[in-house]
Amino acid sequence: MKKYKQILLKYLSFFSLATNFSFFVSCNHQQQEQKAIVNFVENSNKDQYLKISLYENKSAFYISEIGLKRLTKRIQDNLFFGPEIMFLKQININKQIKLFQDDRKLTGFFSSNTQEIFINSEFYENIDNEDDRIELLYQLIFHEYIHFLDSVYFSNYGNNFKVKGKIYNDFFIDNINKLLKTDTKMDYEKVSDIINENHLFNKLTLKEILDKVNKEKNKLDFNFENTSFFPKNTDPSIVIEDVNYYYNYEEFIAREAFKYFYKEKENNLSLNSDTFLREWLRVADVKKKDKKVVIEKIYAPYVLFDNNDLSNNENVKKFANIFLKAMNYGKNISGIFIDDQTKLNNLNQVINSRNFNLVKFIGYLDNQKVNALVFKNKKESNLIKIPIIYNTFDQFKFFNDQKYYSYYSSEFLDIELIDKNYLPKLWTDYNNNGKIEENELKEINNFSDKFNDNYYPSSFRSFFKNLDNYNFINFKDKKINQKE
Ligand SMILES: [Zn+2]
Repeated sequence: MKKYKQILLKYLSFFSLATNFSFFVSCNHQQQEQKAIVNFVENSNKDQYLKISLYENKSAFYISEIGLKRLTKRIQDNLFFGPEIMFLKQININKQIKLFQDDRKLTGFFSSNTQEIFINSEFYENIDNEDDRIELLYQLIFHEYIHFLDSVYFSNYGNNFKVKGKIYNDFFIDNINKLLKTDTKMDYEKVSDIINENHLFNKLTLKEILDKVNKEKNKLDFNFENTSFFPKNTDPSIVIEDVNYYYNYEEFIAREAFKYFYKEKENNLSLNSDTFLREWLRVADVKKKDKKVVIEKIYAPYVLFDNNDLSNNENVKKFANIFLKAMNYGKNISGIFIDDQTKLNNLNQVINSRNFNLVKFIGYLDNQKVNALVFKNKKESNLIKIPIIYNTFDQFKFFNDQKYYSYYSSEFLDIELIDKNYLPKLWTDYNNNGKIEENELKEINNFSDKFNDNYYPSSFRSFFKNLDNYNFINFKDKKINQKE
């Protein structure tokens, strides 16, 4: 096997990098506008498509327009996503933003303030085959997309589990820890053929690492010099560069989700460029055989299965269910988005533009006949209709069992106008007369016993804490709650 250099490939979310958005600002006002070669790759459905832009960049990959369509198809068919995908503003490939210029090893990140994914392929060696380039981009996008899920669902809670300025739902964090058995001590003797004694997990349990890295008061005071991260037959020069980076919950969640939910496609990517292979190396001895990653032996106790089978498995399903629950899967209202037009302009500056009072909704319905969500106007006490559009893009294929239809609301609701004591209802115009009639209304299932759990939809995002003024609503405890 070809020797590879020590590299720390980075894919981050914007949140972990900076606590305010001025980080984005470039001083170089001379900078020329970089041209997009392809904008907005359309899906077969003209109204619902993924917004991907490829930028002209001589030192990076080129993907043909057909290739980009294949990438879109790969995302649509296999990414772990729900109806929130309609609110991802854009995926930018090879756009030269300042962050990439400052950190030459950065290959991708999710910007929570502009709700975009940025991918930089400059760092990778040339890859001849377009299918391999597509797979590489897809892997990077997959990782960044989990950061998007994180911002929409996992970290939009007002209290609970605090992670360095970011607040996670602690049920979500605890369930992940339990299922991965992160407090298990490694039995080194059993795996000494694969790893050296100085391997990270032989020094601390994963839970100890996570606690040290994420709890604000605990500092990682452990000396990581000469601590190994990978199996011993891999390049021994690899030592831990940044445990704080890999094991902050934000990164950890994205990497674990990618490890189990990414469905591999045959490819010729090398150890240097195959991020799937690299993720597995930190828990198992893995090789690439017949264009696929094969587990030779698992050495860390923090893996969802103990055989060498990467395919679907009961624990992987349980793991996915932890994520689905946090994504409010099955709830009539599963997510709330404010009117957010915040953009990065051509000078790499963030232009803030948010209206916290205007919101749109996403959710799941068990039929395709519902016409609108209904709220009550607080002044005139008449009902307000918010029309919905069923997703055709979102097939939610992860389990191949289409239990729900997902939708997004097509018009904004002004939360200042509504009576917060009136619980939202679903309206189905059974007699097609366009009028809301009492027997056509059904209370949303969010507050039913089945869905009365530890998760709830909210328009809050961790990122808002950095703003001077913000407002949000959530549906919790049988109420519409608002922060003003
Ligand atoms: Zn990341």
